[in-house]
Amino acid sequence: MAHIAILGAGTGGMPAAYELRAVIGAEHRITVINAVDYFQFVPSNPWRAVGWRKREEVVLQIAPLLARKGIACVPKAVTKIDPQANRLEFAEGEPLAYDYLVITTGPRLSFDEVPGAGPVASGGGGHTHSICHVDHAVKAEGAWQSFVKDPGPIVVGAVQGASCFGPAYEFAFIMDTDLRRRKLRDRVPMTLVTSEPYIGHLGLGGIGPAIAIGMLVGKAMEALGRNPEARASIQTNMILGVAFAEAIGIYALLTALIIAFVI
Ligand SMILES: Cc1cc2nc3c(=O)[nH]c(=O)nc-3n(C[C@H](O)[C@H](O)[C@H](O)COP(=O)(O)OP(=O)(O)OC[C@H]3O[C@@H](n4cnc5c(N)ncnc54)[C@H](O)[C@@H]3O)c2cc1C
Repeated sequence: MAHIAILGAGTGGMPAAYELRAVIGAEHRITVINAVDYFQFVPSNPWRAVGWRKREEVVLQIAPLLARKGIACVPKAVTKIDPQANRLEFAEGEPLAYDYLVITTGPRLSFDEVPGAGPVASGGGGHTHSICHVDHAVKAEGAWQSFVKDPGPIVVGAVQGASCFGPAYEFAFIMDTDLRRRKLRDRVPMTLVTSEPYIGHLGLGGIGPAIAIGMLVGKAMEALGRNPEARASIQTNMILGVAFAEAIGIYALLTALIIAFVI
C-alpha cells in the first residue's frame, strides 16, 4: 500500500487528487495538504473584486469534497519538505510521512520585488490592490465601492516579473463594464501598464508553435510505431514541420524585440 501526498489544493492539486483516486486502487492512500481549508477558483477573483460574485461563490471547503472520494485532507501549511526521510513538516504537530509526493503549490506572489506594490497582508507595500487571491479581491472590492462614490483615474496592469498577464486585461474590461453600468465611465480615465514587450503579447507567441511541435512529434512517433520501415521519410517530414512551426515562434520573438528596442 502506498501513501501519496498532494501538496496544494488549488487548480492543479484538486484535479490531481481526483484523477489519482480514479486510477489507483482503493488500497492506496491519498492525502491533500493545503495551507487553508478551502479551494479558491482563482479565475473568478476579478468578478469578486467588483462585487459581481460573493466570496462563498468562488471558494469551496475542501475536506468534505475530498472525504466523499475517500481522500484525506490536512489543512495546514507545510514548512519543510524532507525528501530524504519522505516526510512533510508543519509549524506545529507531527510530520506527515509519504511514499510519493505531488507538489502543486502554485506561484509565489513576490510583491516585495516592486516597492509599494501589493497588499500589506501579503508582504506588499499597500499602494496597489491585487486580484491574485480571493482575500485580495475581497479587499479590492471594498476599495472599489469607495472609488465609485468618488471616481477618478485608474491605472491597471501587470508589473515586472509577472508571469500571467491575462488577468490585467480581463480586469480592465471588467472595470470598464462595471463603470459603464453605473454610468460613470466618462469620469474615469483608464491606463493599462504592462511589463510585456508589447500590448497583448501575453506570452502567446510561443504557445502556438509549442502545441504544433508537440502534435507533430507525437504523430510522427505514432507513425513510426506503425511503420518503422518508413523511418527516414517520417523523420524528414517531421523536422520540416517542426521548422515551419518554430519559425512562427521566431517571428513572435523578432516582433517583440523590434517593438521593445526599435519602435
Ligand atoms: C485573476 C486571475 C485570473 C486567472 N484566470 C485564468 C483563466 O481564466 N484561465 C487559466 O487557465 N488560468 C487563469 N489564471 C491562472 C491560474 O489561476 C493559475 O495558473 C492556477 O491557479 C495555478 O494553479 P496551481 O494549482 O499551480 O496553484 P494555485 O491554484 O495557486 O494553488 C496552490 C495551492 O497550494 C497551497 N500552498 C502553497 N504553499 C503551500 C504550503 N507551503 N503548504 C500547504 N499548501 C500550500 C495554496 O494555499 C494553494 O491552495 C488566472 C490567475 C489569476 C491571478
